[in-house]
Amino acid sequence: MPGLDGSRLVIATHNKGKLAEFAELLAPFGITAKSAGDLGLPEPAETGSTFEANALTKASAAAQATALPALADDSGLCVDALGGAPGVHTADWATKPDGSRDFRMAMAKVEEALKARGASAPSQRRARFVAVLCLAWPDGTAEYYRGEVDGTLVWPPRGSRGFGYDPMFQPDGFDQTFGEMDASEKHGWEAGRGDLGLSHRARAFAKFARARLGA
Ligand code: IMP
Repeated sequence: MPGLDGSRLVIATHNKGKLAEFAELLAPFGITAKSAGDLGLPEPAETGSTFEANALTKASAAAQATALPALADDSGLCVDALGGAPGVHTADWATKPDGSRDFRMAMAKVEEALKARGASAPSQRRARFVAVLCLAWPDGTAEYYRGEVDGTLVWPPRGSRGFGYDPMFQPDGFDQTFGEMDASEKHGWEAGRGDLGLSHRARAFAKFARARLGA
């Protein structure tokens, strides 16, 4: 693996859904990474206005704290009719006053905002998931890998798989939402897409794997 020892890679996330997907994506490379949560690292505040800035915040905090290379992703849902919102604030839309997260509520907020704009036709409900992976090194250098997937927001939400906003996102070319797909379908492994992936995270990861894992 050029320059990267996978047994010493930290996954800088406290999000269980993302961690599960990272583990699935890394498994074919024989990498079992430690998460920021396992290592008891604090969760840095995400105050950046871009996915890149927030991914760097998380990855560099973990790389500095552990003196190991760290991989983080910042991701979100960008809805065309909402001017790209919730975007970098996607997690915040799910946050309740007590700090817990409720994605049924978050999806309902997106739906209300779309309704308020009269966006009922599929063509008015275009959206994309974006994931930016940042690999940060203890010496302060960082590199980025971006993945996106376009689709349509459906209502009511369908499916109970995946996490977050998956049940209302139907990727282009598919009849199912991410919430109805199993993990390998969401990653794109079943559709014969090879290493290109389907989901935003799988697509960003494919770029990372090509650059750093010799995929
Ligand atoms: P952050 O990257 O930790 O700021 O959070 C991103 C937000 O986008 C979270 O609320 C996630 O639930 C949501 N999100 C990111 N990726 C996905 C996905 O693959 N499916 C569903 N929701 C996602």
